[in-house]
Amino acid sequence: MLSIAAVASTSVTATSRPIVIAHRGASGYLPEHTLIAMAFAHGLGADYIEQDIVLSRDGVAMVLHDIHLDSTTNVSQIFPDRARSDGRYYAIDFNAAELKQLEVFERADASGSSVFERRFPKAPLGLRIPTLAEAIVLIKGLNKSRGTEAGLYIELKSPSFHRQAGWDIAKVVLDVLEAHELNTAGAPVFLQCFDAATLRYLNDDLQTSLPLIQLIADNSWGEDGDNDYELMRSDDGLRAVADYADGIGPWIPQLFDDKYPKLSERAHQHSLLVHPFTLRADQFEPFDSFNALQQRVFIEAGADGAFTDFPDVTKHFIDRQFPNVTPEPTAGTE
Ligand code: CA
Repeated sequence: MLSIAAVASTSVTATSRPIVIAHRGASGYLPEHTLIAMAFAHGLGADYIEQDIVLSRDGVAMVLHDIHLDSTTNVSQIFPDRARSDGRYYAIDFNAAELKQLEVFERADASGSSVFERRFPKAPLGLRIPTLAEAIVLIKGLNKSRGTEAGLYIELKSPSFHRQAGWDIAKVVLDVLEAHELNTAGAPVFLQCFDAATLRYLNDDLQTSLPLIQLIADNSWGEDGDNDYELMRSDDGLRAVADYADGIGPWIPQLFDDKYPKLSERAHQHSLLVHPFTLRADQFEPFDSFNALQQRVFIEAGADGAFTDFPDVTKHFIDRQFPNVTPEPTAGTE
């Protein structure tokens, strides 16, 4: 586990500067989880760039949000006979080389309409599903060429679904990180998951020293695994999370839910970081403006970072609100 750094001792009121986590890359501007969306997020100054990980049939860690391929690729055109009986195409049914034949587009709903109408059009660009290894090479390369230190913020998707297919997704991801010398204390990598058992396994059994973030869903979402996300938001629940994780990734409305009030403040009492999801400049309702939403998240709730589809807009907000605070204090900083 990451040891939570103390705030600068020179000022009792100093708070650390929240981190900008580019949600699925700069997904407000380019199709999610493509290499160009990651490169753009890097250029826009994101502190971390998110990769959701789903495995191929041959156990390759692919950067893909859904276990299905239908909403973001042309799979039904390339492999028309490979849908399951439910009509869906599953990434786990395809080898990595087959997944590489698919073209990635802006996310669409079942009728083929764009989910976010003001975003990148559904246009042919030859975009492909990256592997986690490619994402690492890209971000490390840009860090070198730009003299920056953007990190990776990796989510393990649906661990029990993958286990049923014979794969240990946590082990697969750690092996990729290991191969790139990133499974080490102090590496710029967060690991996140909705499933508590998987995070405990990463901490207790696989003994990674990377910081772990417990994502908090709503129980109605039917996330993979046996988790009670209501209990998790209670003080007892947060105390239990602090045993194996370094922070929580709540859904933004949970920060302002009267049923479990002051979630962020209570998480901080348990020394847990708070990285809520997802800030979207084109979807800020019921708040008056995107600025008002960011104000609530970073200033009122005191989030330590947030997932954003618009990393430049969020970075601009943070730069204005935290002008004299050094980014990301680390333990032992003088
Ligand atoms: Ca995610």
